[in-house]
Amino acid sequence: MGLEEIKKTLNERKLKATTMRVAVLEQLYKESNAISLSKMQESLGDFDRVTLYRTIQSLVKSGIIHKALEEKHDTFYALCNDCSLHNHSHSHIHFKCDNCGEVSCLDSNYSIQIKEDGDYKIKQLNIKASGVCSNCI
Ligand SMILES: [Zn+2]
Ligand SMILES: [Zn+2]
Ligand SMILES: [Zn+2]
Repeated sequence: MGLEEIKKTLNERKLKATTMRVAVLEQLYKESNAISLSKMQESLGDFDRVTLYRTIQSLVKSGIIHKALEEKHDTFYALCNDCSLHNHSHSHIHFKCDNCGEVSCLDSNYSIQIKEDGDYKIKQLNIKASGVCSNCI
């Protein structure tokens, strides 16, 4: 994913290709895994916290990235595969490696079937799994 594609993605969601948005997306495209907020901050170097916060909110809202994992002191974000502005939902599993701490979105090779048979309407499902990732096996 190059710079042009990042700009195109932003353009499609009617978002301006601000330096911060491009920087955050570039990082996520480079990694195949989710990135923690603290890691993002580290590699951004000199930046404005509020701008970063707003940038992430706007990317999440437009279906470009999603929250992969929330921990006490850090939050991980990952790219969405085929979410759009109006259809932004996931039911994949988020996996954290006990060894290296990487967080990744597990693909359809790992799925959980939820039987919905009640009055509750599930909109968002957060499934967290942990174990050993492919790099650490
Ligand atoms: Zn999404
Ligand atoms: Zn690992
Ligand atoms: Zn995910």
